[in-house]
Amino acid sequence: MTKELRTLTLDEWASLCHNIAVEKGFWDEKRNLGEALMLIVTELAEAMESYRVQDGANFKEEIADTFIRLFDLCGGLKIDIAQEIIKKTEKNKNRPYKHGKIC
Ligand SMILES: [Mg+2]
Repeated sequence: MTKELRTLTLDEWASLCHNIAVEKGFWDEKRNLGEALMLIVTELAEAMESYRVQDGANFKEEIADTFIRLFDLCGGLKIDIAQEIIKKTEKNKNRPYKHGKIC
């Protein structure tokens, strides 16, 4: 890796995380999308548990795990996540206060 990791774009993170997951055998068989999504949720549950027991270091690691799994999935599904975030942010900017919901 010649490029400083902190300077990677979102799409470069997706490629990196996906390539590592491929190298480690997590894509040897066709991925079950539901399982992949639930594994991302599992990382958030681990973050919640770390928060509950006030383990700040592990909380941050579980948040990182969440991003890593999301980037891996984006890489595997060839989702241009930077473009999708831009599109959704523009959409959100034009939504009403609290997205028009009362509570
Ligand atoms: Mg974890």
